[in-house]
Amino acid sequence: MLRTLYNKWRYYTLEHDEYKSCMSKAYINNIIALRWANIVFFVMALLFSIFPVITEKNIIKASFYLGAAIVALCLFFISSNQNKKLRERKKINTKFINALVLLYYINVMFFGLYLAVWAEPEKIAGSFIGIIICVLFLFNISPLLYLWLTVILLAVYVTAIINVKIPSVWNYDIQNALFAGIMGLIFGWNIIMKRITMMSVTEKLKDENTIDELTKLRNRKDFMITFKRFLTNHRQTDNFLCIAIIDIDFFKNYNDHYGHPQGDECLRTIGEALNELKKSGGIYAARVGGEEFALLWNIENFADAERIGLKVNKLIRDLNIPHVKSTVEPFITVSVGIHVAPYGIQHNIDDLYNLADKALYTAKNNGRNRTVVSS
Ligand code: GH3
Ligand code: MG
Ligand code: MG
Repeated sequence: MLRTLYNKWRYYTLEHDEYKSCMSKAYINNIIALRWANIVFFVMALLFSIFPVITEKNIIKASFYLGAAIVALCLFFISSNQNKKLRERKKINTKFINALVLLYYINVMFFGLYLAVWAEPEKIAGSFIGIIICVLFLFNISPLLYLWLTVILLAVYVTAIINVKIPSVWNYDIQNALFAGIMGLIFGWNIIMKRITMMSVTEKLKDENTIDELTKLRNRKDFMITFKRFLTNHRQTDNFLCIAIIDIDFFKNYNDHYGHPQGDECLRTIGEALNELKKSGGIYAARVGGEEFALLWNIENFADAERIGLKVNKLIRDLNIPHVKSTVEPFITVSVGIHVAPYGIQHNIDDLYNLADKALYTAKNNGRNRTVVSS
């Protein structure tokens, strides 16, 4: 029982790969929720700041609420701007988004505290904190972060009202805050979990259709779709698109000498190596043919194209897979053909693929185990 609980706990941490990938996909929702939460909060805080001026001429009280409203309005504009960036496919900083969410909490918490100090029927303030905790689930934050924020929020709140109020009155507040907090936590937590499960199921389904069985790289079908996406979705910071085609040298000889099963084993090892490259360098990799692989990536400087090609040459050579029937080296090597295309020009996928293929052909003719770049 404890073990299952521990595994579950471990899964929902930001160090877990699958969880991280799901969370990063949730950032779009996150920013939209942030915009809405801030604008609603702005209207509410503004209303709260108007009443004290009219009814009791209490300017200090009103200015506190007005302050919270102004902060909410600023956060609204900042998150709108981030949302716009996201739609234009510009880079956004996820840490910055987290900071915005945190600022929202802090703003709301201070507002809740002013309410706790001044609210007429004290019950409102406690419930208010509870509602805020319920709203947190909109943000797709990590469930663990969610738990900590709730606990901290409640602790600060309860301490504050104990210090500010007379004991006969704070009873209501604490009861309300705790009750609403616990309800919010249960609902919010469940919704976050469901969302994550749903996202990871969708991810797995997608994987089943697009992963190559032998090498665990993406398959040709996925490559064509991704290629199209690269061409239409480029960001302004990406100046060039690189497409590389990788072909194993003298692989027919390898199969003839070592046998087909051993050939498959070799492909699997190369697949693993390219998968590592993909993870470490933001490069898309797929198996596009029997012993042919393709890579896609963006660069800002032209020289970066060849650097990656040479890295692949070295990576595969350094696997030290013996190949006595190769005339280049006594080990498995690959030839790489790269085509670099500037973004912003209308491109035809087949043309770009053929140009990279031509570069590969040149690499083969120039002696194999090398990279040729064309543009
Ligand atoms: P080159 O250096 O010119 O590329 O020489 P090559 O022998 O590699 O020539 P080619 O690319 O035409 O050879 C492809 C060989 O790859 C033919 C086939 O035996 C082998 N092959 C293709 N798919 C598979 C596979 O799934 N498993 C195994 N074991 N071998 C494969
Ligand atoms: Mg081939
Ligand atoms: Mg070959």
